[in-house]
Amino acid sequence: MSAVQGEVLIDVRGVKKVFRTARSEVHAMRGVDLQIRAGEYVSVMGPSGSGKSTLFNMIGALDRPSGGSVTIGGVDLATLNPRQLAYFRGRHLGYIFQAYNLIPSLTALRNVMLPVLLSGVEPDEARQRATQALSELGLSHRLDHRPGELSGGQQQRVAIARAIVNRPSILLADEPTANLDFKTGTQVIEMIGELSRARGVTVVCATHDHEMLKASDRVIWIADGQVARITERAQMQIRTGAVS
Ligand code: ADP
Ligand code: MG
Repeated sequence: MSAVQGEVLIDVRGVKKVFRTARSEVHAMRGVDLQIRAGEYVSVMGPSGSGKSTLFNMIGALDRPSGGSVTIGGVDLATLNPRQLAYFRGRHLGYIFQAYNLIPSLTALRNVMLPVLLSGVEPDEARQRATQALSELGLSHRLDHRPGELSGGQQQRVAIARAIVNRPSILLADEPTANLDFKTGTQVIEMIGELSRARGVTVVCATHDHEMLKASDRVIWIADGQVARITERAQMQIRTGAVS
């Protein structure tokens, strides 16, 4: 997969998603077009139910569109079989979720080692890489703690370490600060922004936290399953607690 800085890395074309149940049909995506360049930090903003998580799942290859296509680094995700898709996700994508999604019975170190082991790396090397990633996030003193023994902010930092330990070119975050207090949330945002700047990681972050926007190169505003508007960094007028 190519990821030349500044070139289109994620290409979303005419993406639609319909959720069908016995009694209803929800049109969660109604034709979304979106190009994201390598190294960009993009926030996806919109009210609850507007389709942020649905878009996140499409870009993250966690769910398939009902129509249209998602191409990442020139690879149309629809052409990959389940095995190739699993490899693609493990190799190129890192995920951060609102509820951290750590495995409760495993220590911080084991949680972060897991994706490294799954990528076929030997245990000693995996331990070393996981320790390094946790240290970079200021958690070298919490390696042997289980998620239940960590604060929300610490759990999210473990989750960030897990997301970046395989050095993905794309980091996807779905409301990463929604369960955190203001100060901890701001620290998490700064960490993600720093990763983007220092390593050229492409970040797509679904959020309705306006603090998140300060770190963004662009903001995609979605409403009712469609892109309502796109704001470039230069056009953003950021006041405390509000963006217009
Ligand atoms: P957001 O993340 O912006 O809050 P979502 O992408 O989760 O919004 O949801 C968009 C719409 O799709 C909502 O109306 C939601 O109820 C619906 N939806 C999401 N997932 C499903 C599902 N698995 N089955 C049925 N409807 C769904
Ligand atoms: Mg959501």
